[in-house]
Amino acid sequence: MFSRRNFLKSAALTSVMVGAGKRLGARDRTPVPAKNNPIVVSTWDFGKVANAGAWNVLGNGGRALDAVEAGVKIAEADPSVQTVGYGGLPDRDGFVTLDASIMDENHNCGSVMCLEHIMHPISVARMIMEKTPHIALAGEGALQFALANGFTKMNLLTPASENDWKEWMKKARYIPEKNIENRLYSREDDPMPGGPENHDTIGMLALDAAGNLSGACTTSGLAYKIHGRVGDSPIIGAGLYVDNEAGAATSSGVGEEVMRIVGSHLVVEYMRSGLAPDMACKKTVERLIKINPEKCKTIQVGFLALSRNGAYGGYSIQPGFTYAVKSDRTEQIFKANSYYQ
Ligand code: ASP
Repeated sequence: MFSRRNFLKSAALTSVMVGAGKRLGARDRTPVPAKNNPIVVSTWDFGKVANAGAWNVLGNGGRALDAVEAGVKIAEADPSVQTVGYGGLPDRDGFVTLDASIMDENHNCGSVMCLEHIMHPISVARMIMEKTPHIALAGEGALQFALANGFTKMNLLTPASENDWKEWMKKARYIPEKNIENRLYSREDDPMPGGPENHDTIGMLALDAAGNLSGACTTSGLAYKIHGRVGDSPIIGAGLYVDNEAGAATSSGVGEEVMRIVGSHLVVEYMRSGLAPDMACKKTVERLIKINPEKCKTIQVGFLALSRNGAYGGYSIQPGFTYAVKSDRTEQIFKANSYYQ
């Protein structure tokens, strides 16, 4: 079994070809599409399949908001992606709890936190955004809202994820330690399942033909987390932020660190001040490292950004963070530059 956070292995793997898309370094990026050329970007290798779903909407002149919802739903429904939606790894008590957020070009946003039993939390987040005066619903209340609005209750714990959790239980000390995230993200002792095609949160950003940006972010969060833990992904500004005048950003990695600096909002503000997306992500990662240089030696956080003109880029603390891009002229997976090599 591959470890989910084995940076050394994953860094080596980023030099190989995946599907039709060749991995390229940041400097090899294709030219920036002209304004209003649709484009979609998303985190990790599995973003490529999700982007294809989003492209069915974007490529036909559809709205970025519809595209990102359709795109991330593919990852949510895929049981082989053990970090998102159905088949996601459970918390340490065996419950699959999901976080998701969505945001459009008009600062409309919605999110769900610690939602159980619903395959598509992103659609619940969108419904909260569109049908209620609120932005976020959590836990049992979020579930009741979903069930009252036509979502179906189901068991999200697949036999594979249940088995991985039981294996983890054999070794786990099962103590809510302060340093639980360091243990989970350690390079040497990484108990988290999931191969190089099976990484982390999906954050997706899209620009449509009308020149509008939207974003979506959905995850099962840290595997074997304490029950009730909420990460950065459903926190507007932390795991996801969209401002049509500046750009959009999303994140993956240790959510606690992203929340501490409201990371995606910071990336967007750096773009507003004139930085290119990759530089905006880099400056944000440097902020994390400045705040806690010791912790950042062992954890991973990656940011992905899309400007209002369709330029894109990412940057991470550790090597191994990848993102997928789809437009009418490219379909590729890129390896983001990182602070540590
Ligand atoms: N950011 C997610 C969280 O903290 C986890 C991840 O992306 O791996 O919940």
